[in-house]
Amino acid sequence: MTNELIYSGKAKDLFKTENEDELLVVYKDQATALNGKRKEMFPGKGELNCNISTIIFDYLIKNGIKTHVIKNISEHEQLIKKTEVIPLEVVLRNRVSGSLARKFDLIDGETLETPIIEFYFKSDKLDDPFINDSQVLALGIATQSEIDYVKNQALKINDLLVKFFADKQLDLIDFKLEFGRLDNEIILVDEFSPDNCRLWDQTSHNSLDKDIFRQKKGDLVETYQKVLDRLTAK
Ligand code: UDP
Repeated sequence: MTNELIYSGKAKDLFKTENEDELLVVYKDQATALNGKRKEMFPGKGELNCNISTIIFDYLIKNGIKTHVIKNISEHEQLIKKTEVIPLEVVLRNRVSGSLARKFDLIDGETLETPIIEFYFKSDKLDDPFINDSQVLALGIATQSEIDYVKNQALKINDLLVKFFADKQLDLIDFKLEFGRLDNEIILVDEFSPDNCRLWDQTSHNSLDKDIFRQKKGDLVETYQKVLDRLTAK
């Protein structure tokens, strides 16, 4: 019996399972940029992202972060807890890059006085617009205590991951997280892969993330494989 597809995203498909509290995630070989307007297939990408995300989520779980992951069932499939996803992309920045550099005409790589947390409202139709705390509150997207909790978790995750990647000679420039509600708790959902973070080699400052695809500056699969190799190197 094939499972019923309930959502087809840019990088992952989501299926129902026999258990109504659990969903099946299938990582796809597709990469998109410009909010899906540019699309390309990269055989092997799904497996790489599933493996990379698993290593990072395992590390976060070991360090007390609650997540939706239950277990992996193949190299590109994961069983997850079904949550009520909060429709916010939570972006944390340690250094200037991407849209922040464009918006304020700043130099890529510039260090920030403190990490920045930004919210974007998840909507393909609207191209994920920036949204501030007071809009999140007024539109009923999340409560003040949920906003505070999400920001606090993002900072905690940042502290853990900056150390984790520095150990692999990688600088964590910025990343995007998503959260979901489950049983009166907020837990980390989605994935953590080079699709949704910026990682720079500490020596060369070369990108080891989706900027390779966005800026057409190298081979995506080769680059993501390099990240996985660093994470698994003894
Ligand atoms: N990001 C993401 N999904 C999005 C937008 C951004 O995962 O829909 C990630 C992106 O990979 C980067 C961080 O969030 O690590 C900050 O992205 P930025 O706002 O600079 O966006 P860009 O215009 O560069 O995609």
